[in-house]
Amino acid sequence: MEGMAPFLEKLLLGQYGEEITAQIAQGFAARRAATLRINPLRGDAQQTRAELAAAGIGMQGVPWYADAVILTDAREDAVTALPLYERGAVYMQSLSSMIPALFLGAQAGENVLDMAAAPGGKTTQIAALTGNGAMITACEKNKIRAERLKYNVERQGASHVTVMTADAGQLDDLFRFDRILLDAPCSGSGTVQLGNPKSKGNFNDANLAKTTKAQAALLNKALKLLRPGHEMIYSTCSILERENEAIVRRAVSWGAEVVPLELTGFEDVPALPTKIPGTLCVMPTQLYEGFFVAKLRRKK
Ligand code: SAM
Repeated sequence: MEGMAPFLEKLLLGQYGEEITAQIAQGFAARRAATLRINPLRGDAQQTRAELAAAGIGMQGVPWYADAVILTDAREDAVTALPLYERGAVYMQSLSSMIPALFLGAQAGENVLDMAAAPGGKTTQIAALTGNGAMITACEKNKIRAERLKYNVERQGASHVTVMTADAGQLDDLFRFDRILLDAPCSGSGTVQLGNPKSKGNFNDANLAKTTKAQAALLNKALKLLRPGHEMIYSTCSILERENEAIVRRAVSWGAEVVPLELTGFEDVPALPTKIPGTLCVMPTQLYEGFFVAKLRRKK
């Protein structure tokens, strides 16, 4: 397929077959719409929408999340130039990446770990969804990215977040969390944009082996840190079985259970077939990046 890394194309063909891989390639080739999340922690959502409209920003919603906005004609920089962006009333975020925090279902009063958190799209979304009621620990290994995370947490008004600049794989096993989001480092195979030199990716067997090893190690740690009987989300912006279903299968082999996602209301989200019922793999399209989401429960 025109422009797709041969290694990635081979994996996709093996996993999805010709027809679906051709659809994925179309999604990779499309110019993705700019999208954002309204942040209710920084002002009334209606008021923010009114300000966007007054600035001439055309908007469309999605049925599965009231705070998600698709920009119908404007580009990202039309929003990032506005004062409301500066004060954190919106966060530029892809639609697909808004899905994991929704399924995490964090509640006020809970202790939540976001294991791989920078730049903080999901950390700040969890804070917004719980009205700053959850105590969130946001862990990030990379120092520069952790600074960006702190900056975003502050700007978005996420007031109950502790940022830890640390390797989540080294967290003490004595910690216990009510819910965990592991939005794992991945190959980014769902986010490829053909024709965009910044989004070429570096797809080869050695890189993928390294990434999947890190994913499995982080998931193993997550299941140790999660309270028994509690639930977590494993997500990636990859559409490759090796980074998704294969990692979830390993968690099952360690005793975790897959909790089927309740997808009623999410029918609009374009889905790829997955090998584990109850997990979601979002198909890359003009509106959506490729993304994988699975819910796991640590056995009691
Ligand atoms: N959840 C983030 C968001 O929504 O904005 C995106 C996370 S990105 C997919 C993965 C992040 O994990 C990167 O910032 C990377 O530096 C970080 N990371 C990788 N390995 C890690 C580790 N062992 N411990 C903590 N963070 C790690």
